[in-house]
Amino acid sequence: MDHTRSVNSNIFFTEGMSVQSSRRRSMLTMVADSAGVRHDTLLCPCSGELYRQLGCTEYHRSCTDNYHEALRQADIEHTFTPASLNLFMNVPVTADGAVDRVPPATAAGDYAVLRADIDLVLVLSACPQDMTPINGADRTPKDVAVSIANTFPLEDAR
Ligand SMILES: [Zn+2]
Repeated sequence: MDHTRSVNSNIFFTEGMSVQSSRRRSMLTMVADSAGVRHDTLLCPCSGELYRQLGCTEYHRSCTDNYHEALRQADIEHTFTPASLNLFMNVPVTADGAVDRVPPATAAGDYAVLRADIDLVLVLSACPQDMTPINGADRTPKDVAVSIANTFPLEDAR
């Protein structure tokens, strides 16, 4: 995400921007966003440690676990968890640099269309965060639907 923010000259991710590799290669471009929101690039993926800091005393699913479990299914092992692109997460930043976490400014049915610019193994985690309102005031993780199209232009992907 650090190269993504640098190349896009923005801390938010919006339609038309691309996710960059650590070698500044465009990996994924957002070609449509029905909600027209600013997606978060700052917050880390949730983890067991994060849930323990929030007071959870039992195992809680996390984006970190989802990431590593998904990679294992593809016979890929990572020793670290990279920063995440947090689609639909609403993380406003104030002029003094303070980061807030508020419910999404989106509605059921909103979508983003992402074009793979290179061959990718892409992990999508429907964030299980239910201890704060970042996934909605009802603190209930939401389902996500994924459709993979092999063709573009955009009209073919919808
Ligand atoms: Zn998460």
